[in-house]
Amino acid sequence: MGDRLMMVGAGLSGAVLARELAEAGHAVTVVDARPHVAGNCHTARDADTGVMVHTYGPHIFHTDDDGVWDWVQRFARFRPYKNQVKATVGDRVFSLPVNLHTINQFFGTALRPEEARAFIAARTANIPNPQTFEEQALAFVGPDLYAAFFKGYTEKQWGTSPANLPASILKRLPLRFTYDDNYFFHRHQGMPENGYTALIDNILDHPGISLRLETFFHPAEAADWDHVFWSGPLDGFFGYRLGRLGYRTLVFETFRYDGDWQGCAVMNHPDLDVPFTRTTEHKYFSPWETHEKSVVYRETPRACEPNDIPYYPIRLVEEKSLLADYVALAETASNVTFVGRLGTYRYLDMDVTIREALDLAVAFLAAQATGTLAPRFSKAPL
Ligand code: UDP
Repeated sequence: MGDRLMMVGAGLSGAVLARELAEAGHAVTVVDARPHVAGNCHTARDADTGVMVHTYGPHIFHTDDDGVWDWVQRFARFRPYKNQVKATVGDRVFSLPVNLHTINQFFGTALRPEEARAFIAARTANIPNPQTFEEQALAFVGPDLYAAFFKGYTEKQWGTSPANLPASILKRLPLRFTYDDNYFFHRHQGMPENGYTALIDNILDHPGISLRLETFFHPAEAADWDHVFWSGPLDGFFGYRLGRLGYRTLVFETFRYDGDWQGCAVMNHPDLDVPFTRTTEHKYFSPWETHEKSVVYRETPRACEPNDIPYYPIRLVEEKSLLADYVALAETASNVTFVGRLGTYRYLDMDVTIREALDLAVAFLAAQATGTLAPRFSKAPL
């Protein structure tokens, strides 16, 4: 007879952990406050157009982790997908991420790879150890491309100057001296054929798992369970008693269009005089389907208020200091493990979320087998 485990949250972390622990013989109850599984990667087919909509914004699965890639194949058929993003700057459209095409478009040149490398090198600042996003960008692409593609977008996305943000955010993006316009470096990239919600439904489809939607779990109930995994906000578990960790949220303006609105899945808008950062045309996230009509989102980031859905942890100096206080508090919660993006207050891609959940399941089972304490976090928040 296994333990009675409570998994709070039916997003990726919750579903993967629940599955692994149920397969190990435990009885796992998964609760989620929302009326659907899959957290922010929830997808739903739009009744009017038939388009599969990424309800909380675009999610593109990509990974270099063969174990994660193999694991997800058990629960969904993945269709090939290549993220090819465009950007409208002023009255021109450019290819992203910054690649040889972008450079030649932007400077009106016809440079070959080595020429472009030398051309960009002559424009970049010599900053030996860039600390901020801005320094990193000036060292990486120089002032012209920085001003056109990164400065305004980043200010809108994060609500602060790139001079206040860490270099790590920019390190997510490639710079290429070829015409390869794949947004990601990873060897595996794809979309689950029937959407992420079907993927999560299949992960949760196990006799050892019982699911309760529209159900709030109150931290005071933790004592009723052998162990609790909390994938909600870390500060939320403690009733925000020390204050709130800062997040950016996204506001989506949705409209339908009879035809093709922009002809691609993602159009970025780095210009500061455009309020939104991205326009996403959802039918292009399922390129194997054909749809006459279209569902389009305009995405505007802003500060997350108490009743908003948290998206991106801010993690600047102020937040990190509050985070340290919550981490200390978490050490006192005896049978709880904090997991995932919200539980560890980290900007996580889907594949990393799955990897951490798989590794946590192994660590939890090992701790049980040896009678030692379960990990407090799926990954240290600081
Ligand atoms: N970014 C930018 N211009 C762009 C796209 C991204 O300046 O056209 C910056 C921005 O600061 C963003 C970061 O790069 O937060 C990471 O971008 P990514 O596309 O990975 O963001 P996500 O899809 O995770 O929101």
